[in-house]
Amino acid sequence: MIEFKTEVVTTTILDPREGFARKEIDSEIRYDPLTGESRRLAHFGMIKPRKEDFSSWDTPENRSRCPFCPPNIERMTPRFPPEVLQDGHIRRGEATLLPNISPYDRFSALAVMGTRHVVPLEELSPSLLKDTFLAEMDFFRIIAAKSFGTPYNIVIWNYMPPSGGGIVHPHQQIIVSDSPGNLLRKSLENSKRYYQVHRQNYWRELCRAEKEKGQRFAGELERSCWLASFAPLGVLGEFLGIFPDVHTVSDVDGAVIDELVSGLERLFRYFSSANIYSFNMGLFFAPEGTEKYFSLHLRVIPRLFLNLEQKTSDVNSLLMVLQEPFAVVQPEKQCAELRSFW
Ligand SMILES: [Zn+2]
Repeated sequence: MIEFKTEVVTTTILDPREGFARKEIDSEIRYDPLTGESRRLAHFGMIKPRKEDFSSWDTPENRSRCPFCPPNIERMTPRFPPEVLQDGHIRRGEATLLPNISPYDRFSALAVMGTRHVVPLEELSPSLLKDTFLAEMDFFRIIAAKSFGTPYNIVIWNYMPPSGGGIVHPHQQIIVSDSPGNLLRKSLENSKRYYQVHRQNYWRELCRAEKEKGQRFAGELERSCWLASFAPLGVLGEFLGIFPDVHTVSDVDGAVIDELVSGLERLFRYFSSANIYSFNMGLFFAPEGTEKYFSLHLRVIPRLFLNLEQKTSDVNSLLMVLQEPFAVVQPEKQCAELRSFW
């Protein structure tokens, strides 16, 4: 029932690299199987990520200016008012959750991930990730219990500068809102439509269909399946972790968090092997009342500077002007590499 639609577009050039011989070059237009929105896949193999050395950023001077490094975090970061959080912030192990001093919404928080200013991908430990997600779940539950009328619970993460992260000290962002943002809104609307037509949960069906096909199915854990996205949002693709039978914040227990961390650990090991050192992440929970058709899922989108010397952004007019995500990778090839980390 899920359609994976691709159009191959062929163009002809007279190629100066081969004495101006005629050469045919293929690119692809793929359509997101949920929303029907198009994506471009081209330039295959022409962009290779290169790792940056972060050690130079971890200096006493940078740490002294960072609001998340100790002891600054105590005096430079805000606290929630008591009507929102009695203690002003949430502490879980190494993670501290506090309000964003530059909020995006009514409930806009940050989860500071430990005391180290620069944490390379290989050192984002399972315990640090777990503490961070647990603090976020505490926050979601506290806000939900106060009935502020904010049904959408979202975690986003800009990791390292290519992703748009303004502070290198690792931190995730938490938004609890009555305004879901375009991607979640479209996902919810189309998941509902899919359910109305097929009487099936799209996310469960996607896991089933991808497992059957095998080309983009990285692996599964007890409650989740992990995929390379058919129609990716990023230049270096997009990865999905889907928990078909977990929906709202209240469905999430310690076992789900452990599995989320476990899946991410595998993905990060693959990223390290592929010189991917920056990403955007989104974790989307089902709002109350959408449990039949919407499931907890994670999107991880690698980011990079196209060129380390000029710090060329991987976001250009295709995305900004045409709103057309563009990828230089074939998800099926990527997934073959990722599978060995499962
Ligand atoms: Zn810091």
